[in-house]
Amino acid sequence: MATRDDVLQELGLTPVWRKRTPVLPPLPVRPAAANAVAGEAASAASAGIVDEPSTSHAADDDRAARIARLEWADFAADVDACTACGLARTRNRSVPGVGDRHADWMFIGEAPGADEDARGEPFVGQAGRLLDSMLAALGIARGSHVYIANVLKCRPPNNRSPEPAEAEACRPYLDRQISLIAPRLVVALGRSAATALLGVDATIASLRGRVHRYRSVPLIVTYHPAYLLRNLPDKAKAWEDLILARRILRDSGQAADATGAPATDPSE
Ligand code: URA
Repeated sequence: MATRDDVLQELGLTPVWRKRTPVLPPLPVRPAAANAVAGEAASAASAGIVDEPSTSHAADDDRAARIARLEWADFAADVDACTACGLARTRNRSVPGVGDRHADWMFIGEAPGADEDARGEPFVGQAGRLLDSMLAALGIARGSHVYIANVLKCRPPNNRSPEPAEAEACRPYLDRQISLIAPRLVVALGRSAATALLGVDATIASLRGRVHRYRSVPLIVTYHPAYLLRNLPDKAKAWEDLILARRILRDSGQAADATGAPATDPSE
């Protein structure tokens, strides 16, 4: 089992700790634009099938209402049978999500990649291993006190970015997961997930360091683990984000650190 030093080393935070700049206090909460999706327009031209969902508004509403009543027993099968966008035709396995269904923490990424598409589980590749290290540094683990999901439940071909229409078609599933789990905090992993959830077109730098809300749940934005693998110095910033997230949980009243373990913030 990894020691705390192993975890911090994995996060690129050893051996020298720098003094942490004070974490910004939460800014006034901005209302979530729950139904808007910011564009990922630049990536839209890349390869693959992009189908506009073809149903009418009434049918969309009926579908969303049906999904909003789904229970866990039927959830994964329903995702698997979904054909609301074209991704069902090109993916291998749907990737509904994994983890503790009573979790305080919910981490939301962009979409499954090749490894996830093969296994049917989110974040199981290299980026997933870094995410597991980040969770370990918080004293939580996949399946215990945290639920992990993506904005999209199916892999876009060639790992292209999700289209707004695909994110909208998949949103009822994510919203139902949030209703069922009732997490106390959402962590959006990367710009794509953050902008899809918040309905803003903004840089990750402008979204980090403050508290947003999605469906009334406090939401913190941090870097995507795949980005961190390519930009090692930003791991320290990601750690600051996680410390902020943990503080929000603690301030919200109940024990945020499920293990009761002391903080592993190296700069404290
Ligand atoms: N990247 C994501 O955003 N999600 C995954 O599940 C894997 C990689």
